Amino acid sequence: GVAAAAPDARPGPAWQSKCPWGAPNTTSISCSLADVMSEQLAKELQLEEENAAFPEVVAVAEGPFITGENIDTSSDLMLAQMLQMEFDREYDAQLRREEKKINGDSKVSISFENYRKVHPYDSDSSEDEVDWQDTRHDPYRADKPTTTPRRGFIGKGKDITTKHDEVVCGRKNTARMENFAPEFQVGDGIGMDLKLSNQVFNALKQHAYSEERRSARLHEKKEHSTAEKAVDPKTRLLLYKMVNAGMLETITGCISTGKESVVFHAYGGNVIYLTFCMRSATEDKVIPPECAIKVFKTTLNEFKNRDKYIKDDYRFKDRFSKLNPRKIIRMWAEKEMHNLTRMQNAGIPCPQVVLLKKHILVMSFIGKDQIPAPKLKDVTLSSEDMKKAYYQTLNMMQQLYKECNLVHADLSEYNMLWHDGKVWLIDVSQSVEPTHPHGLEFLFRDCRNVAQFFQKGGVAEALNERELFNAVSGLNITADNEVDFQAEIEALEKMNEDHVQNHGKKLSTFSSDGDPPIFDE
Ligand code: ADP
Ligand code: MN
Repeated sequence: GVAAAAPDARPGPAWQSKCPWGAPNTTSISCSLADVMSEQLAKELQLEEENAAFPEVVAVAEGPFITGENIDTSSDLMLAQMLQMEFDREYDAQLRREEKKINGDSKVSISFENYRKVHPYDSDSSEDEVDWQDTRHDPYRADKPTTTPRRGFIGKGKDITTKHDEVVCGRKNTARMENFAPEFQVGDGIGMDLKLSNQVFNALKQHAYSEERRSARLHEKKEHSTAEKAVDPKTRLLLYKMVNAGMLETITGCISTGKESVVFHAYGGNVIYLTFCMRSATEDKVIPPECAIKVFKTTLNEFKNRDKYIKDDYRFKDRFSKLNPRKIIRMWAEKEMHNLTRMQNAGIPCPQVVLLKKHILVMSFIGKDQIPAPKLKDVTLSSEDMKKAYYQTLNMMQQLYKECNLVHADLSEYNMLWHDGKVWLIDVSQSVEPTHPHGLEFLFRDCRNVAQFFQKGGVAEALNERELFNAVSGLNITADNEVDFQAEIEALEKMNEDHVQNHGKKLSTFSSDGDPPIFDE
């Protein structure tokens, strides 16, 4: 081997040339083992040098890619994106070297920033994802995107801006976000004129790192908490955008993890924002000091059995069939927003809508100092308060039906909060109009829950479920037992459906006082 490896092999000893099998062919081997070794050494040295020059790039590349420990290989898309990202990063590293070479020690430098490849992907953007807010005003979009000034200062005389300027620094921080781990979604903020304060940037950076560690831990355990699942990178990105845009000050933590949603508490930001009411023009609004963020889960399983609520709701009927499952989930958020708005307009105590963004609904927080108001089922009320709560609930159910033209459809002590000495209604994503094919059945179920709760709670005046149903709906179903009552309700629903089939419109008999109110949505 040693002899064969020598590139400049001189002719061997005399006995070798006389060898009956001929002389070994040594010319095809071009370098010695020692050379190979030294070339490796050179590569290593070069790598080391690069490491020293561009530590952040190398650190990122070595992190999730090379070790391959934290990668979720179950997703081809993810894999492709990661490969692309790796390629882009290499490209960018090269670009940085060029940039450095050109600029040298010069005080004025040329930035290649705009030629860089790494833009966090947003697979959503390829789809026709325009929600109701996008079409009017996007609070996250900067008016004039500008590039990050790389030199120490810009401007002249009094208008000079140094790199320590808050605005400049903020933009730079935004640009630096892309140095976070590749799976950390920083959004398209880089292309915008976003300004991150050092404090926010550092917090975000810290979060990116701890997120990386946490992600690794979770993969080891091969399990995810329910909250973790709901807050996928895309959702997180949307939440960060809300914080960056100043809509929210901080997101403090999770209040509730349910089957269909996760609710977070947040402190409201101090920007004035525009709302788009369904019927009126835009209106200036101040963000409530404390907000609840309801994130509708993007895992579909739980929603399947609730299809009937939305599929049969004529307001959403036409759209339903054309939508992909992700959009259907957004529709839940949208539905909750519309329903809350109706309730708000009727003066029913309920969360005030702040913002809807895709499957995320931000509303005012019912509670104080991060502590949510207790559910009616968890609070111990004096008999006086209990009675008060009952009459208020009766009143709200009537208002909801008559003024909002809605049936809650999930009303119980679980979705009523006790705050400021009164009952607040929440969780109205599934609420439907009374003429919904199952609307009256839903109402009857609501009445049963409410009647039972207050009767058990010792309110002697509380109507039973059938009386309550008639009191709320204005109908006069006379059956004196549950089974017959239920049958009459179903007969009414069927009559209405048949009428719709034959005449293309709903009967108005459900509404005690003529036509139901019209909401032009
Ligand atoms: P789910 O469909 O998961 O039941 P909810 O809308 O009922 O969703 O919210 C879940 C829980 O989160 C509620 O029981 C309540 O404790 C809390 N919550 C929801 N919205 C608010 C709000 N606006 N203010 C305070 N707490 C809220
Ligand atoms: Mn609920």
